[in-house]
Amino acid sequence: MFRITEIKRDIVIANRILAHEGVADAFGHVSARNPGKPEQYFISRSRSPSLVTAADIMEFHLTGDSISKDDRKPYAERHIHGAIYEARPDVHAVIHNHAHEILPFTVTKTPLRPLVHTTGVIGGHVPVWDIADRFGDTSLLVTDMDQARDMAKALGDARVVLMRGHGCTVTGASVREVTLAAVYTHVNAKLQLQAMPLGNVTYLSPGEIEKTPEALIGPLAMERAWDYYAARAGADQL
Ligand code: MN
Repeated sequence: MFRITEIKRDIVIANRILAHEGVADAFGHVSARNPGKPEQYFISRSRSPSLVTAADIMEFHLTGDSISKDDRKPYAERHIHGAIYEARPDVHAVIHNHAHEILPFTVTKTPLRPLVHTTGVIGGHVPVWDIADRFGDTSLLVTDMDQARDMAKALGDARVVLMRGHGCTVTGASVREVTLAAVYTHVNAKLQLQAMPLGNVTYLSPGEIEKTPEALIGPLAMERAWDYYAARAGADQL
């Protein structure tokens, strides 16, 4: 029971961090798989990340059907989360966001690639999913399980999937891990946009991509980074 309370608290703090770091604006969401019931996940009701509190957290089946018996309005795009939990037993937390600096990499052939030691966490291959490939003209939002499963397929075993003309979805083994991964996906996009006009960029090597994540999401580093970002967001006392 304590573990669930802790996970819900981390979801709230993660929302505040994403809002404060400019990863999420009015939109964007964070979920966590229920550790006791892996076929279910927690996510806020439809609310902007900077405003989410523990009372807003709802629980859903992986199919997106609500378990919470009330009439709170869920996120229309919650299926993104369930489809990834279905496809990836190793994933226990998911973040979806529309950070502006990521968007250029969703609409061009330039891949998002890690270029500094803190961003090796995004992985060597960041796939781009185009909803139009299978679903034609849509609102670009992921509004059902069919679309979400197609996106999860494009994610494959990667950390991050970019969504054409829309945003990205980031995966992790915990809420803390996925939050740092989402923050540093955004950092990498910003740095890559700054570096590319200057000339040929030296990206991390495959070996470096393997060795660098420990310094961000290894247990010691992750606690330090989490406390730092939670305090910066004014969420450390929640
Ligand atoms: Mn979206």
